[in-house]
Amino acid sequence: MANFQLDIAKFGGTSVADFKAMTSSVQVSASNPNTRLVVVSACAGVTNILVELASGACSRDKIEELIKKLYDIHYEIASKVATTDICLKFIKEHLNEIRDLANEAAMERSDALTDRIVSHGELMSSFLIVEVFKLHGYNAKWFDVRQVMRTDSCFGHAQPLVEVVESLCKTHLAPLLQEDNIVVTQGFIASNSEGMTTTLGRGGSDYTAALLGEALAASTISIWTDVPGVYTTDPRLVPHAKPIDELTYLEAAEMATFGAKILHPSTLIPAVRRGIPVYVGSSKEPEKGGTWVKPETTSHPAFRAVALRKNQTLIVLASPKMVGASGFLAKVFGVFAKYNQSIDLVSTSEVSIAVTLDAGSNTSGISQLNESMLNELRQFCHVKVEHNLSLVAVIGNEMSNIPGTATKAFDAIEDYAVRMICYGASNHNLCFLVDEDKAVSALTALHKHLLED
Ligand code: ADP
Ligand code: ASP
Ligand code: MG
Repeated sequence: MANFQLDIAKFGGTSVADFKAMTSSVQVSASNPNTRLVVVSACAGVTNILVELASGACSRDKIEELIKKLYDIHYEIASKVATTDICLKFIKEHLNEIRDLANEAAMERSDALTDRIVSHGELMSSFLIVEVFKLHGYNAKWFDVRQVMRTDSCFGHAQPLVEVVESLCKTHLAPLLQEDNIVVTQGFIASNSEGMTTTLGRGGSDYTAALLGEALAASTISIWTDVPGVYTTDPRLVPHAKPIDELTYLEAAEMATFGAKILHPSTLIPAVRRGIPVYVGSSKEPEKGGTWVKPETTSHPAFRAVALRKNQTLIVLASPKMVGASGFLAKVFGVFAKYNQSIDLVSTSEVSIAVTLDAGSNTSGISQLNESMLNELRQFCHVKVEHNLSLVAVIGNEMSNIPGTATKAFDAIEDYAVRMICYGASNHNLCFLVDEDKAVSALTALHKHLLED
């Protein structure tokens, strides 16, 4: 295990988008002598292209068009390093494999094949940034994270086997960190016990960095992205959003869970287990500062942030037999569990139960709503499914203990039709389900009333 202070720096897609972005990221990483392990995402846009190629819906011409786009993105970087020929050979080999796999997907797609295809994004970006490190005189080494990031076989949304990851990291990765160099590896991708490639779900590189941080007992985890820290809401949606200097783990985890894309929802779990502080900053403008996420903060405002999560599906299950009967909820949840479908929000009435499901985090992007599951539910209740909904969440502290907090939030969205409200289960959030096309406006209204002066 490392006997120095270890910082793990993760650079997201825009931070490795092209040669210029990679150069800034190399400088950011080199400016902290504790940064010995660098985790990178695929270059911006690459995973989306690979997901399209994996969808099985591409004609041969379309496959060639997308491969050309991938070539152009990576060529721009390869052409500027000292080892252009080696890099181009490496990129071409990967593109040839992607082409073969995309043709296979066109015959029959699967989540396992999708994971194999998308993994090439991180494999290529990590190879190229090693050369950018070397160009600037740093001794960087490429490491295949699949050697240590072991997961179950749930392709597209695999779960890490934390104890195995820790033991593999001790054996294969920690010894490399003792040397005077920077190890560069991939986020998002992993492997199961048979050596097949898996992925942690979209945006999973943050989670990789945190899992490696936990396994290697890092002293800090730095998430370098395209905004200078975590804001009171997505600054791209609400221009009045303000940066937050420090957040508790709990506040940040609630924000990530309710859609603040800046952190993958599971990122804080390993950090909390080890008490590792997480820093979020901009790789392009590191001087602007960022956000520290840690166990405790000096302030605990009732309203900390608002977040938006799109792609929600509402399922209302009604049965007159529910009145006075016991076991209905257990039966419903049993069916969801059987189909491995996790439920987000729940609300019940005398004769019905409403639940929301998230349609989106699987790598393939294909909705997980299973028709057989719905049919099984239909055998004992009436089932109504509604799509195109968004969850707007208020995140804060002691919200259900402070009189008037709920009223303030309700006042802010009095002009919106709310399909479902969740309040009370947690002291730290208050959620509203609204139509997708009204969601940004509802988010803006909540931000204005609760977080602007
Ligand atoms: P990366 O590729 O670096 O992982 P992401 O696109 O996944 O970057 O996350 C960064 C983006 O998260 C920002 O560009 C911003 O639009 C969005 N975002 C959502 N909520 C927030 C928030 N509360 N604060 C800052 N950024 C947010
Ligand atoms: N490249 C992956 C994605 O686009 C993982 C990540 O960026 O965190 O989802
Ligand atoms: Mg991300």
